[in-house]
Amino acid sequence: MKNIPFNKPYLTGNEMNYIKDAVDLGKISGNGFYTKKCQDLFQEKYGFKKCLLTTSCTDALEMAAILLNIEPGDEVIMPSYTFVSAANAFVLRGAKIIFCDSREDHPGMDESKIEELITPKTKAIVPVHYAGVACNMDLIMGLANKYKLFVVEDAAHAIDSYYTGKDGIKKALGSIGHIGAFSFHETKNIISGEGGMIAINDEQFFDRSEIIWEKGTNRSAFFRGEIDKYNWVDIGSSFLPSEIIAAFLWAQLENLEKIQKKRITIWKSYKDRLKHLEENPNVKLPVIPAYATNNAHMFYVVCNSEEQRSSIIEKLKKANVLAVFHYLSLHKSPFYQEKYKGPALENSDKYSRCLLRLPFFFELGENTIDLITNTIDETIKAN
Ligand SMILES: *Cc1c(COP(=O)(O)O)cnc(C)c1O
Repeated sequence: MKNIPFNKPYLTGNEMNYIKDAVDLGKISGNGFYTKKCQDLFQEKYGFKKCLLTTSCTDALEMAAILLNIEPGDEVIMPSYTFVSAANAFVLRGAKIIFCDSREDHPGMDESKIEELITPKTKAIVPVHYAGVACNMDLIMGLANKYKLFVVEDAAHAIDSYYTGKDGIKKALGSIGHIGAFSFHETKNIISGEGGMIAINDEQFFDRSEIIWEKGTNRSAFFRGEIDKYNWVDIGSSFLPSEIIAAFLWAQLENLEKIQKKRITIWKSYKDRLKHLEENPNVKLPVIPAYATNNAHMFYVVCNSEEQRSSIIEKLKKANVLAVFHYLSLHKSPFYQEKYKGPALENSDKYSRCLLRLPFFFELGENTIDLITNTIDETIKAN
């Protein structure tokens, strides 16, 4: 029987053509023709004020920490149930991470618990739009305004997903906080192997973002002819990807609608076939709040115990299907557990033990979804 992977990168067919074109154009380092095409499209389509492609979302988050002038002793609030990059970016600048629990009904951070974590040292809140489903941004931006904090949206999962606030205006995720960070890693919806983007929505960061992006130099302004020599003017690093990566990404962006449509079909197939489980107290399916859209980044089920999750993973493995769990609470990680002095984060630990991600990729067929959902059903019935 054929092996069903957890993820399979989807190629639109034009990637190699655009890479060849980039090579033929004779400039394959960063900030060229394809980089600008991608950045312009993101700005126009999603209303980000300024976009810079980066070599990863990790790099975009590191740029954000530099832009916010994070210093030793500053505190940054983020969920514990997330990827390590958001924490690392701020730890690298000496910040203390204040971990927030997840919501009861969703792995994203519990917005109602943020305010009690704010102290005079708090500098930023980093919401993660888990599975591309928006956090309650009215609440988060309200706290940011009240306490004069920055908001960096970790939108790694969240391309082409939206939030509708109390004002009724629908806004792209990553365009609401001061800064948004995206990933084009091969496990995300739109890919370039490794790759990412920083979206800058606060104009005070425009000039400095270009400088940090280009190793702390004012080279971007120099190439636009605004200054006659370029200099080392700030800290920075090599955050920009080569044109080869941008050319690949452009082929994906041209097919964004097609990719999203297919992913949403797959998501709905999973949901339809597992719908009856909503009556079952032993398993929970993803919840999409009324203010959020679903960009079909992933499909998961939340099991009632680690044992139940293991037995489903085992049964699927016997059917040659690879299903995986996701994050492990960062506050309990080998690197952070000794430093962590806060309260127990029960929901974060529950998702660490019980959340199961099902295979999700463009070419996933209906028959395979049947096989996967039937296997889950049988395992739950047998338990
Ligand atoms: C994938 C991911 C990242 C890191 O993205 P890279 O592009 O691989 O650096 C950061 N945050 C979250 C929530 C992610 O899922």
